[in-house]
Amino acid sequence: MKLAGGCRCGAVSYRSDSDVQVAVYACHCQFCQTWSGSSFALHALLSSEAFVLQGPTVEYAYEDQGHTSRHHLCATCHTRLYNTTTAAPGLWVLRVGTLEERSSLSPMAHIWVKHKQPWLRLPDNIATWPENPTPEEFGAVLNAGQS
Ligand SMILES: [Zn+2]
Ligand SMILES: [Zn+2]
Repeated sequence: MKLAGGCRCGAVSYRSDSDVQVAVYACHCQFCQTWSGSSFALHALLSSEAFVLQGPTVEYAYEDQGHTSRHHLCATCHTRLYNTTTAAPGLWVLRVGTLEERSSLSPMAHIWVKHKQPWLRLPDNIATWPENPTPEEFGAVLNAGQS
């Protein structure tokens, strides 16, 4: 599907010109909770070449378990749009809440559910992992359900 999105204030937008494969998952880790100010984060994995981005962004980079993660935010309103990580070269890890199509994209997996909020009930038939899945396990689930 073609995708488009942007930040809260409108200074930054992105869109794909062709159909892109998108895999959505929810992360319940405590970093995602803190970072989002919510109970979990919804991430979409996409090819970094899928999108053209317009507008000024700022970057926040940090080291995590031997990998470098670079987060890209609107320079004006500081909406976090996506990050890249050296653990998954060539991919954008996009914040699904910045997509116009977010209502039609549901997660295929939930990770770090050992930190899931106790009031949140997940569907019985969805893949979950207490922490990070292995790349092989994760890839098998995400590739099976790509839209
Ligand atoms: Zn903005
Ligand atoms: Zn997380």
